[in-house]
Amino acid sequence: MYSENNLLQGLNDKQLQAVTLPHVSALILAGAGSGKTRVLTTRIAWLIQTGQTSPMGLMAVTFTNKAAKEMLTRLTSMLPINTRGMWAGTFHGLCNRMLRAHYREAGLPNTFQILDTADQLSAIKRVMKVMNVDDEKYPPKQVMGYINSCKEEGLRAHTVDAYDGHSQKLREIYDAYDQQCNREGVADFAELLLRCYELLEREPHIRAHYQQRFQYILVDEFQDTNRLQYLWLKLLGGAHNSIFAVGDDDQSIYAFRGARVGNMSDFQRDFQVQNIVKLEENYRSHSNILDAANAIISNNQNRLGKNLWTSAGKGEPIRIYDAYNDTDEAQFIVDEVNMLQNEGVALGDIALLYRSNAQSRILEHTLFSSNIPYRVYGGLRFFERAEVKHALAYMRLIGNANDDTALLRIINFPPRGIGARSLEQLQEAARQNECSLWQAATNKVGEGKLGSKGLDGFVALIRHMVDQAYGIALGEVAEMVTTVSGLMAHYQNDKEGEDRIENLKELVTAAVAFSKQDLGNHHNMEEDADLMTQFLNHASLEAGDHQADVGHEALQLMTVHAAKGLEFHTVFISGVEEGLFPHEQAAYENGGLEEERRLMYVAVTRARQRLYLSYAQSRMLHGQVRYGIASRFLDEIPAELTKRLNSKPVAKSYAAGGQYTAKPGVPPVAHSSYPFKIGQSVRHGKFGEGVVVSYEGNASDLAVKINFGSAGLKTLMLEYAKLEKI
Ligand code: ATP
Ligand code: MG
Repeated sequence: MYSENNLLQGLNDKQLQAVTLPHVSALILAGAGSGKTRVLTTRIAWLIQTGQTSPMGLMAVTFTNKAAKEMLTRLTSMLPINTRGMWAGTFHGLCNRMLRAHYREAGLPNTFQILDTADQLSAIKRVMKVMNVDDEKYPPKQVMGYINSCKEEGLRAHTVDAYDGHSQKLREIYDAYDQQCNREGVADFAELLLRCYELLEREPHIRAHYQQRFQYILVDEFQDTNRLQYLWLKLLGGAHNSIFAVGDDDQSIYAFRGARVGNMSDFQRDFQVQNIVKLEENYRSHSNILDAANAIISNNQNRLGKNLWTSAGKGEPIRIYDAYNDTDEAQFIVDEVNMLQNEGVALGDIALLYRSNAQSRILEHTLFSSNIPYRVYGGLRFFERAEVKHALAYMRLIGNANDDTALLRIINFPPRGIGARSLEQLQEAARQNECSLWQAATNKVGEGKLGSKGLDGFVALIRHMVDQAYGIALGEVAEMVTTVSGLMAHYQNDKEGEDRIENLKELVTAAVAFSKQDLGNHHNMEEDADLMTQFLNHASLEAGDHQADVGHEALQLMTVHAAKGLEFHTVFISGVEEGLFPHEQAAYENGGLEEERRLMYVAVTRARQRLYLSYAQSRMLHGQVRYGIASRFLDEIPAELTKRLNSKPVAKSYAAGGQYTAKPGVPPVAHSSYPFKIGQSVRHGKFGEGVVVSYEGNASDLAVKINFGSAGLKTLMLEYAKLEKI
């Protein structure tokens, strides 16, 4: 028996078929825990190992930075390659990278900065103020939602339809906001995508470059792509590239951010997809959990339809806890977590999920008082904290003084006597001259027209910082900024400043670590942006993501949205009440309830061994007591799978996986006595084109396994198969 390829070992037939598909576009449509992400990662490894492509010849798109990192870790454990420099990341991350490489063609400054959500909101407020728009009639958050959804649809202000006065006004604000961003050389998250899409569409040579390069494009969580992301993929896919999309329509939970399940059928049509592989075996959960998930989702009408089964056995019943109130619920969870720990379950393998962020406060409080370490994903992350953002704003100004958002954040922080009046004058001057605030300040200061002492001091400070920053290491820049700006001194005088000082120091550490990490990177033309800009970008992208600090074990707290794609030994879903989950807003939205149900399906399918569902008869939320009744989703679970008010069960201990150290280089898989290399494309008279997957048997009756794409996997006797190399 020839066993060349332990990469493929342990895959089931369908998975094997998906992993080894020829160079065609394919859709892997499968339910939760069926190994989609594993198939996608294994395919990357297989394509590289068999020499069908190199690590630089493919692009992999995932949903969060965390998922991308995980994918690279898994990859290096399968294959000793250097994954640095690979194009694997989120849509935003990858677009950002392309824009950096072609900033000129994209009409952006070399050092353009990314606005995170909070920055974007404040930028919109500024535009509205200049335009004298009533922010009660046009709440800035709604305006932001409007602008982002236009961008997600690929629409600019001059292409979007407006039917009445209200929408015309929105369009006007959108236009003015875009102009302001261009003036300041900044881009919000949605802009990264749209700008990159427009770049590829407008510049045929750049498009051709990437099309030639990325012959294999792999996309995880395809069901949650929005219109623009799909169009972007379509451009990169061109006429010839293979797009390998992996998804589950039942897990589409980002409709509120423009996700379109319809992309799946468009994809099949646009790319003439003949290979739709369905994976039906679930490897994650025991059958009680899986059956519950299947039962819940079967109440949805618009489904593509899949069956999921597992050979794992029934496992433990799903535990349902009816709490008296929210404190009782939290206490129950704490008790169970303690018990699980005693049984040997690692804290990091336990997740506490909730539908809305606001629910986490009471849970956090109880965990804190019980001394259980926990980590909140998607809360106020390090880079979102005010003092860190202040320091970053100074760094941004050093890189690009025309960044008005950064300037406004710190022009008078720490306070230096620049009053609202001088600020207004400055803004007026910038408006009249259609220039940035910095330009307005530097033009006028010399002439003494605007010159307030504070403003002079500020301009001198920034210039001084620019001088100081010249030629020193990133970590030193960060350190210089925190002291020279006066931030350190400011917080030292503040009674509650201790944490903030810690965070500023941590920022210096982060900068030092970042430059070390980057020195290991191979620099090339595409990564030409300077280190500080890269660091600032990293900060903006991380702030928008759900990134945990590395280090000690902690219970994982997160919203259901943030849990997508992850799995845990034990999962608690709290607040399973009408109005909370399904969320009350769902009742008002078209398809809202079905989206909530998919969200519940995602939540339930995160659990490998044990699942708890709890609800409270009353709880404090947003400062009000509300009385809850159990969620309809609980009724959708067959009673025989559940156990009400649990007794203490015995759980098995749980061991973590092995480790691996990576070496650069790709191992050859060729074997001299075989006529075709693994991964070689061949033609067969009847089945058409296929790819060689493996060999079986010995020299006298050697069989070859070939993946013929739509015709499936075939094992053929080499002697009679009459295969032709292509
Ligand atoms: P989700 O829809 O939640 O993203 P998924 O379809 O991406 O799930 P994976 O995360 O890839 O599923 O796999 C779920 C679990 O099953 C993982 O722990 C994975 O290692 C395991 N698994 C997948 N395929 C196999 C297999 N053939 N044999 C054993 N374990 C497997
Ligand atoms: Mg997955």
